[in-house]
Amino acid sequence: MSKLYQKEDTIVALATPAGTGAIGVIRLSGKQAIAMADQVFSGKSLSKQKSHTIHHGWIKDEDEILDEVLVSLFKGPTSYTKEDVVEISCHGSVYVIKSIIRLLISKGARLAKAGEFTQRAFLHGQMDLVQAEAVADLIASESAAAHQAAVNQMRGGISKEIRRLREELIHFASMIELELDFSEEDVEFASRDDLKKLVNNLLAVIAPLIESFQWGNAIKNGIPTVIAGRPNVGKSTLLNALLNEEKAIVSEIPGTTRDFIEDEMVLEGIPFRFIDTAGLRDTEDTIEALGIARTKEKMEQASLILYLFDLSQTTQEEIDADREQLKELRIPFLQIGNKKDLAPDDLLDRFENRKEVMLISALKKENLDQLKARLLEVVQPDDFKTGETMVTNLRHFQSLQATKKALDDVIAALDKGRTGDLLALDIRQALHHLGEITGEITTEDLLDNIFSKFCIGK
Ligand code: GDP
Repeated sequence: MSKLYQKEDTIVALATPAGTGAIGVIRLSGKQAIAMADQVFSGKSLSKQKSHTIHHGWIKDEDEILDEVLVSLFKGPTSYTKEDVVEISCHGSVYVIKSIIRLLISKGARLAKAGEFTQRAFLHGQMDLVQAEAVADLIASESAAAHQAAVNQMRGGISKEIRRLREELIHFASMIELELDFSEEDVEFASRDDLKKLVNNLLAVIAPLIESFQWGNAIKNGIPTVIAGRPNVGKSTLLNALLNEEKAIVSEIPGTTRDFIEDEMVLEGIPFRFIDTAGLRDTEDTIEALGIARTKEKMEQASLILYLFDLSQTTQEEIDADREQLKELRIPFLQIGNKKDLAPDDLLDRFENRKEVMLISALKKENLDQLKARLLEVVQPDDFKTGETMVTNLRHFQSLQATKKALDDVIAALDKGRTGDLLALDIRQALHHLGEITGEITTEDLLDNIFSKFCIGK
């Protein structure tokens, strides 16, 4: 039997984190879930209770009491998996949890694989694949922006867009296929111009989705940011000023210092991940560094560059040369003049009218708030602020790219006056890739790959 369709089993897993806690929640899902729970639960008969109710009682292994528990009942299809689901809230002792799970297995349940509850929810049509993946993203989200993106995806933001695209393409395909049916008669149901317009419309919807991935991905994983500039302009001072301020805020929340991500700064929920900070901290390296050229490789991994110069030491020629090199990278960069505190007034006046240059003092922490505000402006293009149609998932991004490629082929085929059957081929290809995103088209490997990244119990 295919792994995909092992739906007959009743599965069990701990849904809360492993280890000792105040409570542990053990989740059961499947046809026998309620009957199995009844076998070990001493209290009311669960199978006689209504859905969405909670019951107090004891879990017993024969005569031995294992724990005092609360049992929540969700009868399919109004449950997470659309199957009968039972959640046993027990005391969070590793021993108790293990014993209860072992007991349920002895009654015929099988230990769930990673993500198997959500996989069942998907297979039963509770959610599409994008939404299922968003569940994993939500659990993993560590910043407000990543959380918001996951919530939007869970609520079907992208799915709606993809489905709309797919419907239009199906309409397109049906016109072409109709033509094929009548091929002997040489009719054209769809004017080639109209077809082209339709495909171009689709491409216009796909392009911003593909583009959004740059930021969508950055928001999920942190925006890779580099502080660049010549030696001694104050790069490491700025890095420390930005990070330390952040650390001070974070460490005020009890228990968070341990989890604090080194070299990351979160502004209004958006994580900025400073890359190559080891190089900055290593002073010897800084002294030897030859400005921009040397760190070019590092900068190519960045989505954002903070270009720092020393207001009174870096010459205008050097700044100009650096700027030309930065432009070639085609990565957004900010120009920041540092050591404002040392700069004479007439120099500051000269920069007054150059809005593209920000003036700060990393050492005296002057204008850092202004710098942060500017950082947020750069990374939050208005379109993405709502996050509704932002692609954050590499898989979706790749499928969208493949869809775009197929649609480009359709346009090329139309331009060359290709016959309907060739057009149909490309259109089917595009439909296939769109379908992969939401899960209308799946393979077992794809699903295994996606759900194995979930935690057990979800
Ligand atoms: P890096 O080589 O670019 O990383 O530069 P550093 O951060 O090591 O700074 C070089 C020197 O400039 C150090 O002595 C810093 O204290 C000093 N410095 C950095 N920022 C400022 C600033 O805003 N004002 C002043 N007066 N000194 C600064």
